Amino acid sequence: MKGPRILGEEEIKIEERPPPPLERIKPHKWLSAKDLEDYKRLERDGYELYVSKIAEEKMRNHSIRFAEIQKEAMGLLLGWIYRNCGKEYTIVKDVVTTDLESSSVHVRFDRDAFEKLFTSLEEAGFDYLVVGWYHSHPGHGCFMSSTDVYTQRSLFNSSRHTAIVIDPVNKEIKAFYLDGKSIRTREFAIYWDEYENPYYGTRVKKRELRSDPDCVAPTQ
Ligand SMILES: [Zn+2]
Repeated sequence: MKGPRILGEEEIKIEERPPPPLERIKPHKWLSAKDLEDYKRLERDGYELYVSKIAEEKMRNHSIRFAEIQKEAMGLLLGWIYRNCGKEYTIVKDVVTTDLESSSVHVRFDRDAFEKLFTSLEEAGFDYLVVGWYHSHPGHGCFMSSTDVYTQRSLFNSSRHTAIVIDPVNKEIKAFYLDGKSIRTREFAIYWDEYENPYYGTRVKKRELRSDPDCVAPTQ
């Protein structure tokens, strides 16, 4: 069984690449007024973290679905690290999860579920790194509990790693990272690819075009 590559301090190939442009990023719709201010302040300089619309929707829906049955959701963030003008940033392209042992105040991966998780990682079909994790706090607000800090220290102890916490009941989301001994919040942007619809919850336009049976080739 092949395990996933967790981003560590080891050398990974960091490509020079510009981050998603301003016209293809948005603040998360669940940011607090204070977080939105911080988001706007960083808009020009760029963020340390960009989360794809698809990954965001998966995490949000997972958290909402689990909140309905009074449970916490959890999963891993998959993506890559890039560099632009000497500054590193992380792209979260997708997320993955597996069977969970969870209650409304606690969550962990099911002991036998790792094999399944690795299979779904293989199926994710791109060269990924595990760049962090997400989990939900249904109704409890977004913070790092002592267990969360312990998890962060033992599995994701680089400042490049991110922990996303979602409260689907109060509609809050925050990203955290470990900076030495302190836990800090990390501003992030939601991005979408060029041909995707920027709006949450609506289906992508290109899908309509693709499935249009009356589609005629444009005349020259
Ligand atoms: Zn937690």
